[in-house]
Amino acid sequence: MIEMARIAVPGVERVWAALPEARIAGGAVRDALLGVAVSDVDFTSPLSPDEVMRRLDRAGIRSVPTGIAHGTVTAVIGKRGFEITTLRRDIETDGRHAVVAFTDDWRQDAARRDFTINTMSMSQDGTVYDYFGGEADLRAGILRFVGEAELRIAEDYLRIMRFFRFFARYAKGEPDKDAVRAITDLRDGIDTLSVERIWSEIKRILAAADPRAAVALMQTTGVLPLIFIEGANIPALNRLVDLGSPPVPMLRVAALLGGDAEAFAARLKLSGNEQELLETYKKPNALSPTSTDADLRRALADEEAEALIARSWLGQEVEPGWDELRGRIATMPRPDFSLHGRDIVALGIPVGPRVGEILKAARAWWWENGCVDNLEACLKQVQHRLHGQ
Ligand code: ATP
Ligand code: MG
Repeated sequence: MIEMARIAVPGVERVWAALPEARIAGGAVRDALLGVAVSDVDFTSPLSPDEVMRRLDRAGIRSVPTGIAHGTVTAVIGKRGFEITTLRRDIETDGRHAVVAFTDDWRQDAARRDFTINTMSMSQDGTVYDYFGGEADLRAGILRFVGEAELRIAEDYLRIMRFFRFFARYAKGEPDKDAVRAITDLRDGIDTLSVERIWSEIKRILAAADPRAAVALMQTTGVLPLIFIEGANIPALNRLVDLGSPPVPMLRVAALLGGDAEAFAARLKLSGNEQELLETYKKPNALSPTSTDADLRRALADEEAEALIARSWLGQEVEPGWDELRGRIATMPRPDFSLHGRDIVALGIPVGPRVGEILKAARAWWWENGCVDNLEACLKQVQHRLHGQ
């Protein structure tokens, strides 16, 4: 047991004032030990969920029974929610969901958690309880299952995906051999997970500052081909990360996905937004450091700067000047084609399909010309064409 700094998240002290026997557990303790900013704070307590709600009520804190069946109550303080879960032990597992019983044994609760670095808890006085050597593993960058890897995976196959999530974020050097063997042997178990779960974990893995080692390990354990069935382009992902691009999961998915984006999006049930983003990113990159301002204006007239910048990362080559290109894209105002149907009607063209055709031709002219002509110039061009016909 060691002393440590407090977790300075507003509301934490109020929860502790109502529930002095509760401890912060899991990710918040792990991240606080590393000095990483903590946002989500979960508590564990030996009190029953009913008693937790009574105590919160007495302290004037609103509580919501978010998962009473498995012992979770959420305390709402300001805009923040704090999950308070009663100490548990597993009675029965089926590969994803566990039947739990409440306990007053802190060690048992820690033992059912997935990795040693996720088992630590911290009491109000700042004492860290570390039953499985989590802090040493955290400092050494070792991601290790609590107990036998095979058993822990067979209890819940989601832990395969969680392994890669935490490996990407916290691991250094070679992966734990037992974990690698167990994941390799049991990888087909991820077929029992919902695609939504898998997709959500993929995004979390790829949100890590440097997910390269985790993705390489997904490949050697045979997990990646089960998820990226359409094809995976690991060198493209590695190149993207090497360039120092921002840690945007969708950008990284676009690099890593070697095959058909539409099939991938349908199979993993991406949201409409995500699918659109992926397909936008997957279009060939057309801009480069030699692009002129007119090229940039034309591109910006058709698409958001964000999409063009994303594609520039994916299409970046060895020549210098790409950061400058992105600077130009980001600061250039999006050109606006200012001619509207009513302007054409005002010229004496009757409302109807012809108005749209004229507008379309006018926009094509404006676009070819570098997206610089204003309303007046566009009108002039339209009139010129109409009279020339
Ligand atoms: P993150 O920063 O990604 O949210 P976290 O550690 O808070 O990391 P969560 O998925 O929010 O991760 O889970 C909170 C804690 O609950 C974990 O630290 C772990 O102790 C425990 N836990 C969550 N899911 C599982 C699981 N499937 N098997 C075992 N323990 C789990
Ligand atoms: Mg969390």
